[in-house]
Amino acid sequence: MRALRRVTVRAHLPERLAALGPLSTNLRWSWHPATQDLFAEIDPERWRSLRQDPVRLLGDVPAARLDVLAADEGFTGRLDALAADLQDYLDAPRWYQDQEGLPTGIGYFSMEFGVTEVLPNYSGGLGVLAGDHLKAASDLGVPLVAVGLLYRSGYFRQSLSADGWQREHYPSLDPQGLPLTLLTVADGSPVVVRVAMPGHRVLRARVWIAQVGRVPLLLLDSDIGENDAELRAVTDRLYGGDQDHRIKQEILAGIGGVRAVRAYCETLGLDQPAVFHTNEGHAGYLGLERIRELLGSGLDFDAALAAVRAGTVFTTHTPVPAGIDRFPVELVRHYFGGEGTELDDALLPGLPLDRVLGLGAEADPHVFNMAHMGLRLAQRANGVSQLHGEVSRDMFSDLWPGFDTAEVPITSVTNGVHSPTWASREWTELARRTVAGAELTETGVCQAVEHVSAADLWALRTTLRGQLVDEVRRRVRASWLERGATEAELGWTAGVFDPDVLTVGFARRVPTYKRLTLMLRDPERLRAMLLDPARPVQLVIAGKSHPADDGGKALIQQVVRFADTHDVRHRITFLPDYDMSMARYLYWGCDVWLNNPLRPLEACGTSGMKSALNGGLNLSIRDGWWDEMFDGENGWAIPTADGVTDDVRRDDLEATAMYELLEGSVLPRFYDRDADGVPARWVEMVRHTLQTLGPKVLASRMVQDYVLDHYRPAGESAARVRAEGFAGAKELAGFRGEVVAAWPQVRVVRVDASGVPDIPEIGALMTLRAEVLLGGLGVGDVAVQAVLGRVDSDEQLHDVRTVPMAHVGSTDGRELFEVETALPHSGAAGYTVRVLPANPLLAGDAELGLVALA
Ligand SMILES: *Cc1c(COP(=O)(O)O)cnc(C)c1O
Repeated sequence: MRALRRVTVRAHLPERLAALGPLSTNLRWSWHPATQDLFAEIDPERWRSLRQDPVRLLGDVPAARLDVLAADEGFTGRLDALAADLQDYLDAPRWYQDQEGLPTGIGYFSMEFGVTEVLPNYSGGLGVLAGDHLKAASDLGVPLVAVGLLYRSGYFRQSLSADGWQREHYPSLDPQGLPLTLLTVADGSPVVVRVAMPGHRVLRARVWIAQVGRVPLLLLDSDIGENDAELRAVTDRLYGGDQDHRIKQEILAGIGGVRAVRAYCETLGLDQPAVFHTNEGHAGYLGLERIRELLGSGLDFDAALAAVRAGTVFTTHTPVPAGIDRFPVELVRHYFGGEGTELDDALLPGLPLDRVLGLGAEADPHVFNMAHMGLRLAQRANGVSQLHGEVSRDMFSDLWPGFDTAEVPITSVTNGVHSPTWASREWTELARRTVAGAELTETGVCQAVEHVSAADLWALRTTLRGQLVDEVRRRVRASWLERGATEAELGWTAGVFDPDVLTVGFARRVPTYKRLTLMLRDPERLRAMLLDPARPVQLVIAGKSHPADDGGKALIQQVVRFADTHDVRHRITFLPDYDMSMARYLYWGCDVWLNNPLRPLEACGTSGMKSALNGGLNLSIRDGWWDEMFDGENGWAIPTADGVTDDVRRDDLEATAMYELLEGSVLPRFYDRDADGVPARWVEMVRHTLQTLGPKVLASRMVQDYVLDHYRPAGESAARVRAEGFAGAKELAGFRGEVVAAWPQVRVVRVDASGVPDIPEIGALMTLRAEVLLGGLGVGDVAVQAVLGRVDSDEQLHDVRTVPMAHVGSTDGRELFEVETALPHSGAAGYTVRVLPANPLLAGDAELGLVALA
């Protein structure tokens, strides 16, 4: 039964306009231009001044105006059509409904979500990625239930002091004014999630629902009267407090989050999710809560762990060890060590503390590592670009000792971005004019540019650059007013930036590795480029520094001071308060999107993808996504000096390379015009980028990858371990226990090869025989493999290939295995034999981290 009460739209809408309610609270409007146009039509001036926020617009617009619209048949006709369109979007089967064997529900947990600027619940890339994941999932019909926290002050709003120092503001948001509905039970009272805190206290939270198209996003809010002041503050800010504050947030998001999902699905009569996806380690406690639930239904800890792992997917987002969430073990002990047996006196009754601590163990015995817990609680894990997958396998290889880095079970799904959100609507309109009639898919829009003339492509790029220039002027002026300037001094801001000058953008958070100030490495060289009379460049910069990071704020100040200089201030600017509403203009309008991280510390990066969807060309270090998608024609790769250990020298080398690319390649191409004033070669790069890069950077591609490569197998694994009273989970846990106990006795005692030629050549056949001690395990409990590869001077095997060996008999308690196989390499080929645990319920060879090598 549906028991959701709508509480947000305070406006008393005339009956005839009631459909505006759901159109304003379902955030699908944020990627649906026709719905935005309808809101704009209600009151164009207010729509602009209220920053395109439908809920605020409806709360603010005079009743008389609404009455006029209610009587306007043109308006009500458009309203009815859009309401029907939304209903159809919500009800009709989509891509997911066409696939076979997919789970009926997926819980998606993240500490931040950037869906739209009217719900400022994010700090940067991780949150915006999560938002794009939900939107693409909605478009594809993926039955996601998303979970996070509602931060009363979001992350923070940034402004600048007169001397360019970052200032933080924490305006408090009233959920009643946001596009949220409260989760309630049948009698209308709010659902309250409870989580036990030490000292017989209980942390309570309400559950707000942001409806993201078809996907509900549940946001837990502890700022309610039933909590004391300290507990009310748990959801005050994103990334704003100390370790103790943060662990409380993560406990609420993970444990409270699962309880919120349970309540939501029960209230709406939906199936509970079969698969849970942990977007970064922060929400990892969700796995512990699910173990607790299963302990209650008669499983022991190991069987419950096996059952939970089968249905869990973990995505790691940072290649920077310092970026991983780690808590003092004492703090985890404090929260998880409660002795009580009831939900109100112990956080997770029945969960042995030592097992909890074991899940987060790392090399430092005083530290609890959320990424390690994420990996141990998930049968499937991934990084967010191919390069990041590689870096993650290396970074976490200690959890799988004895395995080659390449075998560490962390795969990759390269991030993507939601094109209906990030591609300017002009692209869709251009595509529609070009390939008339057709219903345009996202890829269709990218591909339609094939048929657009160079002049039209260029005209659109110029339009978008012009919109950005207007926005830059507006924001520069507002920023100077905030910094204390008077109107009279600000005449110059009307001439900031030039709609015909090559525009380079650089906007992102300001951790050290992103190197905000690399462009200032040689200030005179930069100044000369900005002021070049024939081929100038203009540079727009934005980004927030974490409030506790004075180093980052000093970098911002350095940029601001340079940009404040009178001779260059019309060509370079730092815009405060980077958020989605600003980002959009930057991605639309910049000709070049600059990114210069310290390789390989950028896990993926997504802003360059959003720029590419608008015909922006990337100028970037080959890191993250750009490492796999740069093709020589779709932008420029700044050569990395990642072998150079001296940081100063490395920065010098990479900055010089960047200047050289700009001066020698980017600028000449942009200003090389044909008789019609069109830079033909530039436009061909734009066209190539849209056509070939566009389809690869889509969030719909990313979500399909997650569904097919992760959610589907996780759903199947979860169903297998769950069947017949969790027989599979018990079997897998029992197997794991036996194997772990026996493993010290498992040994390859002898390997013989016959038929190896004196001068081996590729394809030469040989027979390998191995004698193996199994320490009491059965032959069916192990896989014995020949491992073949190339031997380098380090005496290690490289480029290995594994071949299963067959059991052929036994003597004296030794099991004999054999295979005939070809040598994969000429010259220094080598081979060995290894034993692995084998069970059909395992997801891969390395899963248990156990291997015995000859
Ligand atoms: C896309 C986006 C980001 C992430 O950009 P990166 O390239 O990953 O640094 C950050 N903030 C906002 C507002 C974004 O839209």
